[in-house]
Amino acid sequence: MKREGTAAFGRPSPLVGYLPAVISLSFNEDNSVVPNRVVSRGIVTETAGFCRGGFLRVGASLALSIASLFFDFVGAASAQEQTRRFLVLYPYNNLFPTGIAVGEAARKRLDERVGDSLELYTDFLDLGRFSGEAYQQRTARALAEKYQDRKPEIVLALGPQALQFSLKNRQVLGFDVPIVFCCTSRARLSTLSIPNDVTGIISEFDYTKTLALAQRLQPDARQIVIVAGASEFDRQSAENARRQLASYDNKYDIQYLVGLPHEELIEKLKRLPRTTIVLMLTVFSDPRGRLSVSPDLVPQITSAAAAPVYTPYDAFVGRGVVGGHTDSLESIGIEVADLALDILAGKHPSGVPPRSTNGNADRVDWRQLKRWNLSEHRLPTSTEVRFREFTVWEQYRWHIAAIIAILLAQGSAITWLQFERHRRQRAELDLRQRLAEVIHLNRTAVTGAMSASVAHELNQPLGAIQSYAEAASLYLKADPPNLGRIEEILGNIRRDDKRAADIISHLRGLLKKQDQDDWQEFDLNEAVRDALRVVRPEASKRGVQLKAFQTDASLPVRGDPIHVQQVIMNLAMNGMDAMQACSPGQGRMSIDTAMTAGNIIEVSVADSGTGIPADKIGEIFDPFFTTKGHGTGLGLSIARTIVETYGGKIWAENLPSGGAAFRFTLPLAVQ
Ligand code: ADP
Repeated sequence: MKREGTAAFGRPSPLVGYLPAVISLSFNEDNSVVPNRVVSRGIVTETAGFCRGGFLRVGASLALSIASLFFDFVGAASAQEQTRRFLVLYPYNNLFPTGIAVGEAARKRLDERVGDSLELYTDFLDLGRFSGEAYQQRTARALAEKYQDRKPEIVLALGPQALQFSLKNRQVLGFDVPIVFCCTSRARLSTLSIPNDVTGIISEFDYTKTLALAQRLQPDARQIVIVAGASEFDRQSAENARRQLASYDNKYDIQYLVGLPHEELIEKLKRLPRTTIVLMLTVFSDPRGRLSVSPDLVPQITSAAAAPVYTPYDAFVGRGVVGGHTDSLESIGIEVADLALDILAGKHPSGVPPRSTNGNADRVDWRQLKRWNLSEHRLPTSTEVRFREFTVWEQYRWHIAAIIAILLAQGSAITWLQFERHRRQRAELDLRQRLAEVIHLNRTAVTGAMSASVAHELNQPLGAIQSYAEAASLYLKADPPNLGRIEEILGNIRRDDKRAADIISHLRGLLKKQDQDDWQEFDLNEAVRDALRVVRPEASKRGVQLKAFQTDASLPVRGDPIHVQQVIMNLAMNGMDAMQACSPGQGRMSIDTAMTAGNIIEVSVADSGTGIPADKIGEIFDPFFTTKGHGTGLGLSIARTIVETYGGKIWAENLPSGGAAFRFTLPLAVQ
């Protein structure tokens, strides 16, 4: 087991400036001394008390004294006036939140304003647990001894009991320095006789203001319950409340739960109607005199109570009470520190008489408003709302708004792009339809131009059928009828009939309007042969010698065979037009297919016509370019569109022998 004792010493060092230190020693069960820690920066915290005996402890004290002397020696040359020495006296122990909050705020303020010259001592007088004249005198003597060589320049007394202790034991303490107090009501202050070197910050615990806040939040309340502990201080608080709330007797049923045992108090609070206003004052001790040191006391009371609890004490806000009209502990700490510094700077305390704190306001705990379903809108706008929990929207409003804006912008951009895409698709579809119509019109025109020759071509089988029919009639009339010969003639009639039907069907195929391209794999030689069935009669009609050459092997390509025939017909028709000036039999045309390198098939349509004027060779494939009186200028443009659609190329060149050759390629379909 370990017991701890603390010895403090510190002196300005010429080497490192002021070097205060606390060496904390632990006394083990066997009374050996173990150094625990060294605390620097001039802030020393300890509980006033008395070392218990023991040889080793005396030895330790001696060692400490020697160490202290060493520091005294080292620091002797230092400028003492550089340091500002404060003693903060806490009335109770380190578990009382009010004193701790004020003391910490004061320490921070002093540290901020004094900096490295600050020498701050704190002592917890523990007057809640230890009372009576004898205790106070023993404590005062111990402090006198403790601070014998380091007398504070000013004492900060945090609360009425610390103030009373300081005033009463001034002689014993041995340092007759100004005192700055806080956290004391004007009423309590009037019970003490305050000398003119004492001043401070007064806290007015005006219970009516806290009650006004409660009334706003609970306008339907009919009952007020005042909760206070059993200590003298608690009872005085309750008495004070009784005086202040006397005028409320008519309107409310006011009940005082003062000095009850803890369990009984909790039970009573549990059974309160929801419409009650609970006003919690101090609960420093229970009826058996046990000090309520647990920081959980307030949460225990507030969580047990079946009605909202209010308080005039700032330290309770955040521990389950709804709120109250309170003095900000932080601002009290700051004001006390500032007042102490003003006095150290030369102001006489009598020139700055005790004044009320500037930090009083209505303060509420947002979480408790939610717990009790109390409307924040009933509160004055000046109310300080603490512990507000922000919703995701409140916390990240701008981030969310930015994300929504980005999403909206993105959404609109996507919608707009989709609309544009849809429009483009429709436009492309329209374009394809128009193109198909133009292609069809061109095909109809070319086919129509050649139809006279084709019709003439029809005469051949029809005439032959006529002759065969007449011959068959003669063979029938013979006696006996020559049935074998008739049979043969009927075969010929069927063959020529089929030929005529094929010509008509082919023409119909060329003139037929297609809803969409008939993509398929077909033999290019077949398509050339089909085109020749239309071109050849026209060539013959115009006296053009037409030669055609196709490879023996089939040439599979992908596309619409009617379109490919149309290309050949257009090129052949143009060639024949270019040979118009030739005398009959002089014009020559050749239509050839060949395989070239890289699985590319080339079809050429060459003529012996006028050729293409050199300056026009780059324009002939442009839409509407024509040199003919009745030309449309669309034939070559459509031919190029078709060829390129099926992955090929088309071009023209003049032949050295005269005339022009048009060539187009198509890729061989992969087998
Ligand atoms: P169109 O036949 O209605 O004039 P094309 O687009 O088929 O339209 O032809 C455009 C022009 O190209 C023709 O007017 C002609 O001047 C020129 N052309 C086409 N084929 C030949 C050819 N084989 N020989 C000379 N010129 C040609």
